[in-house]
Amino acid sequence: MAANTPPMVACPTCRKPVAWIAAETFKPFCSERCKLIDLGDWATETHKIPGPPLLDEDDENPDFSSY
Ligand SMILES: [Zn+2]
Repeated sequence: MAANTPPMVACPTCRKPVAWIAAETFKPFCSERCKLIDLGDWATETHKIPGPPLLDEDDENPDFSSY
């Protein structure tokens, strides 16, 4: 008889095999640490957007400051 083995996946961060079961909270990651590492990489990639160009300070607008 075949054992009731859960499907295994490889952790995207460290390649450690992880059982695809409800008890594995961080699947497909093996741990919260690996999940945060992966999400952190993703976040740093997306947040690489240049800030808006600063306006020159000589362009004073009285309506703007009284707002
Ligand atoms: Zn891992």
